[in-house]
Amino acid sequence: MADAVVVGSGPNGLAAAVILARAGLDVEVYEASESIGGGCRTGEVTLPGFHHDLCAGAHPMAVASPFFRAFDLKAHGVELLTPQVSYAHPLDGGHAGLAWQDLDHTVDGLGRDGGSWRRLFGPLVRKWEDLVGLVMSDLRHPPIDPASLLHLDPGVELRFARRVLEQSTPLWNMRFREDIAPALLTGVAAHAIRPPRGIPGAGVAMLLGTLAHVGGWPVPRGGSQAIVDALAGDLKTHGGRVYTGHRVDSLDEFDEVRVVLLDVAPAELQRIATLPARYNFALNRFRYGGAACKVDFALSGPVPWQAKGCDRAGTLHLIGTRAEALAAEKAVAAGRHAERPFVLAIQPGVVDPTRAPEGKHTLYTYAHVPNGSVEDLTAAVTAQVERFAPGFRELVLATHVRTAATMPAHNPNYIGGDISAGAMTLRQTLFRPAPRWNPYSTPLPGVYLCSSATPPGPGVHGMNGFFAARHALRTEFDIRNDPLELLTDHWRI
Ligand SMILES: Cc1cc2nc3c(=O)[nH]c(=O)nc-3n(C[C@H](O)[C@H](O)[C@H](O)COP(=O)(O)OP(=O)(O)OC[C@H]3O[C@@H](n4cnc5c(N)ncnc54)[C@H](O)[C@@H]3O)c2cc1C
Repeated sequence: MADAVVVGSGPNGLAAAVILARAGLDVEVYEASESIGGGCRTGEVTLPGFHHDLCAGAHPMAVASPFFRAFDLKAHGVELLTPQVSYAHPLDGGHAGLAWQDLDHTVDGLGRDGGSWRRLFGPLVRKWEDLVGLVMSDLRHPPIDPASLLHLDPGVELRFARRVLEQSTPLWNMRFREDIAPALLTGVAAHAIRPPRGIPGAGVAMLLGTLAHVGGWPVPRGGSQAIVDALAGDLKTHGGRVYTGHRVDSLDEFDEVRVVLLDVAPAELQRIATLPARYNFALNRFRYGGAACKVDFALSGPVPWQAKGCDRAGTLHLIGTRAEALAAEKAVAAGRHAERPFVLAIQPGVVDPTRAPEGKHTLYTYAHVPNGSVEDLTAAVTAQVERFAPGFRELVLATHVRTAATMPAHNPNYIGGDISAGAMTLRQTLFRPAPRWNPYSTPLPGVYLCSSATPPGPGVHGMNGFFAARHALRTEFDIRNDPLELLTDHWRI
């Protein structure tokens, strides 16, 4: 019998498994699907030779995350390809906001708002490691370093908080004079699938917006699957075993195992375990939020964007002005479909020719929809792309859609199509999945949660798995070494 079992092979489950295996434990991973990777898989879902990322497509967080920096994806054979433009935001009339990886270049392109953009992001870009340390933490430690106050340096924490507060109030337009820069910023805030003028959206905008000007928003050569394959390969090297096609229906299966880490949504934990009434009640209050309808396109050529520079962007936000984005996201939050939905598009072919046969391209998109939506948004997404790239329709060779309602069949963590495994409200940002000092532990002895339903929330960064594994090692095995040290190859206990 293994020392430790991980249920679920998403990036967090595998991150946890890698740490436990490198600490010398005998680790087994059980995955419901026939393939590993959870929200980080790639597949040929349209036509042969067209490789589509089925969930996560762009990886600013994998480049910045302390876990992945220590793991070193490059050393494990993953080539992260970084588009010159991290993200673009076209507007009607053939112009677009471009967030270049180079901050100066971005500032130069934003006209009268260039200076504001620099003042917004410059200080965070300079201190990006501190910012990552704050936002990708377990959110359980004092955010302000007293030493920074003694030196009268407000520190990244206060700078971040000031910007988040500004961008979550009606004063959010105060610093801008034109329409492109605020739209550009709102496109990033919308990643939270919440009305972008709110604390979670503004927090996401400040984090991902900063990372756009640091390591960029790269895509892995061949697809996101490369990231989880690298983790699984490392796990196997350290003696771990992965079993696919095995959906765990009861924790009783692992009665003999000392520690079980669950890369599952809280609702799945409730399904497979008998929980004390109080914790069960707290999990009943956990809310699943706005969802995605994923539409993938096989194309006969590159997307003919009207606005200059969009052809250099890895990611594009298709919605129009800040006001349009706000209205569309408010509709989704209220349980309605927006007439013209927010569409997130990724064109990996800008940097990765391996995604499609020669001369051909893939386009990754998803539109924001209410939780549980059964609607196929292929037509609405096509219209939104066509709006900014006339002639797009003629390039479409094939499409593949996964509605929000069918998302859980692909991955049980995405309840009703909520790709964050729990709404990113302010409460659920701080207290995922329930108000507890240690959000990774459960009242069941030796059972921990490690999915994105714990801090620091969604994204391919592995930090939820990292923190859960650290708690499990300390509590169950009294192993107190820094788990990041476990990731360097010369370290052994
Ligand atoms: C459409 C979409 C687009 C996204 N885009 C991005 C992006 O561009 N960049 C980014 O960083 N993030 C993105 N994300 C978010 C990112 O994919 C997730 O936050 C991340 O994958 C979460 O990792 P995880 O390990 O917590 O869970 P998951 O990746 O969801 O993995 C959980 C795994 O557990 C398995 N499982 C669940 N229950 C059981 C059970 N009972 N028994 C066995 N196995 C079980 C599931 O099958 C799944 O494989 C996107 C997500 C989606 C869906």
